[in-house]
Amino acid sequence: MNPRRMSKPIQIGRVTVGGNAPIVVQSMTKTDSRDVVATIRQIRELEECGCELVRVAVPDMEAAEAISPIKNGVSIPIIADIHFDYRLALMALKAGADGLRLNPGNIREPEKVKAVAYAAKERGVPIRIGVNAGSLPRSAKPQLTVAEQMVEAALEQIRLLESLDFDLIKVSLKAFDAPTTIEAYQSIAQKIPYPLHIGITEAGPPRTGIIRSTVGIGTLLYEGIGDTIRVSLTAHPREEVIAAYEILKSLNLRQHGPILVSCPSCGRAEVDIVKLAQAVEKELLKITKPLKVAVMGCVVNGPGEARDADIGIACGKARAVLFKKGKKIGVIEEKDFVVALIREIEDMNS
Ligand code: SF4
Repeated sequence: MNPRRMSKPIQIGRVTVGGNAPIVVQSMTKTDSRDVVATIRQIRELEECGCELVRVAVPDMEAAEAISPIKNGVSIPIIADIHFDYRLALMALKAGADGLRLNPGNIREPEKVKAVAYAAKERGVPIRIGVNAGSLPRSAKPQLTVAEQMVEAALEQIRLLESLDFDLIKVSLKAFDAPTTIEAYQSIAQKIPYPLHIGITEAGPPRTGIIRSTVGIGTLLYEGIGDTIRVSLTAHPREEVIAAYEILKSLNLRQHGPILVSCPSCGRAEVDIVKLAQAVEKELLKITKPLKVAVMGCVVNGPGEARDADIGIACGKARAVLFKKGKKIGVIEEKDFVVALIREIEDMNS
């Protein structure tokens, strides 16, 4: 795994993005941002599962003004997602947004970007230049690849902000397909010092979206690229946060809650491992400590993996051996598998 690319850290509210700060998990609300109560409720759900930054859509002035009461009801920083109208960015700043996302594909006039940059600078609020393959500027050069066009679009706006002495910059270059996204980030990572927000856009529903996102985000993180991530899914945003942590955990970049090791099951298993693993996985959502839990089907790899975990179960015929911190602590009956495992896990979590 490559060492992390060093970027110039920025501060979004109380959260640091870039530099040596942990890779930050973010998501986006799917409520109508003008509905303050529903939006606060959803952000609180995201906070509960560990989301660290949240973006809200700002389609009109009412949504921009709503940022103020929303901020009063939540504790994580809020980033206003702005398209088309720079005045929405100005209002979002007034309402207390901790960060802005501007799309260079639809807010291009230097005077308008300038007005936003001055107001953001006055408040110390960073701007993400959020390039999206689906909304590239019309001036993009068709002889370039999509990845190159995305990089060009970002560089153009970076130069404009830098000319205004504005450097609270974060950049994203998202495409629907992983190779284009990876190519774009690899290119820009060498050209600028700013932190990168990485993700695959419009990745789809969880089954396919998580795979597409993991390939794109995982490849970049393995190369040391990326300071904050969002897994975009057509699902409740809670799923995005859970998936983001799983990607970070699988690369040993963050610890967050337990890790479940479970065998895929096969003809040797004499209990229903799929059902057991699903039941344990559901219970683990409530656990906050980074425990390693193993659910194994038989004596082939079972005792080894179960012993290696903080808490593990190696099943046999209608019974299983329970291991805790490498030691066998008992034999349990099939009907007690989930209850006994969870009791031990909760004990270690407290
Ligand atoms: S641990 Fe046993 S049951 Fe599970 S996949 Fe391996 S051989 Fe099959």
